[in-house]
Amino acid sequence: MKIHEYQAKELFKQYGIEVPFSVLCESRGQIEQAIKKTGVPCVIKAQVHSGARGKAGGVKLAKDFQSAVKFAGEILGMELKSSQAGIKKVNKILVEQAVSIEKELYLSLTFDRTNECIAFLVSSCGGMDIEETAKISPEKIHTCLIKDTFNPVETVKCLGFESDITEKIARIAQNLYNLLIEKDASLVEINPLVITGNKEVKALDAKINFDDNALFRHEDIIALKDEQEENPYELEAQKYGLNYIKLDGTIGCMVNGAGLAMATMDVIRLAGKDAANFLDVGGGASSEKIEKAFKLLISDRNLEAVFINIFGGILRCDFLAEGVKNAIKTLDVKCPVIVRMEGTNKQQGAEILNNSGLRFTVVNDLNEAIEVIKNI
Ligand code: GDP
Ligand code: MN
Repeated sequence: MKIHEYQAKELFKQYGIEVPFSVLCESRGQIEQAIKKTGVPCVIKAQVHSGARGKAGGVKLAKDFQSAVKFAGEILGMELKSSQAGIKKVNKILVEQAVSIEKELYLSLTFDRTNECIAFLVSSCGGMDIEETAKISPEKIHTCLIKDTFNPVETVKCLGFESDITEKIARIAQNLYNLLIEKDASLVEINPLVITGNKEVKALDAKINFDDNALFRHEDIIALKDEQEENPYELEAQKYGLNYIKLDGTIGCMVNGAGLAMATMDVIRLAGKDAANFLDVGGGASSEKIEKAFKLLISDRNLEAVFINIFGGILRCDFLAEGVKNAIKTLDVKCPVIVRMEGTNKQQGAEILNNSGLRFTVVNDLNEAIEVIKNI
């Protein structure tokens, strides 16, 4: 799960990481008051779940009150087109006291899956071109793999700052590490972390991603979810406890079990097509849940066909058939629906579908499914 910069900065404050004073605005009526509170110069920042906002015109430095009001008016409500997240409507802006920047650094902590540990990354070349730096001069980004206790000082020393600055950065790294562990974040990133004219070290930007599978133990984090930023299909799926991820292909698929779902996507690929989604209805799905899942699946406008591939173990094939039948009755399904069922009550399931008066292609095995999908 992602959160906004303003929310991440609140967490930073809780963990003793300094951020500039700022005020959030959610409507035009709040703009002038917010700018009066921060004073000028200030920075107007689009709050959307995307990086690279600066390059997309979503971060602007205003020197006086008039231009601050003008920029805020332009950014609030704009459609921000970033290289990272496509087009996003800006529903909130952050008005933040401007900071005099002497140096922009980059600092992050994330999982290194290859090395099975947390990695600490730090660079003195922070700012909007960090991706370029990573490509052209990767040696400018110092990495420390945290195998046991975290001791950031040695890595931070590589940046070559005087000792009090080094200590301040190391303290921030330690606080960020505590945040990552305690809140089950999968990524915490500060870009830029700046050294100010007064030799203070402050986080000007804040990015935190959380591990969805650990959210159940963090009610405070769940409360930060901004539903407007989520994919509407995925949001709907979460409501029903379905494991759904939207993809770009044209074959909608509904499967039980993540492993079978992966294998099904391979089968679709073998037939020369691509899956429109990943959908795992889970082991003990009821026919109501199947109906919801099917409705969700079919709301995708780009479908050429739907492929239902179910192994009836805990979920019985007749339950599945009942759910699919009910869903199709109430929907206008124009594309072919291919069903492969195996396992408990397979025969009853096939009968329910065949006697439904609706159009299904029931196949016996995966090879037959491939042939049917190929010829769509
Ligand atoms: P991003 O482009 O989405 O990563 O947004 P950032 O919050 O990182 O802002 C982009 C850039 O705006 C930063 O790299 C800074 O160079 C600049 N910026 C942000 N806040 C301030 C500020 O208070 N003062 C000044 N002078 N520049 C700022
Ligand atoms: Mn940034």
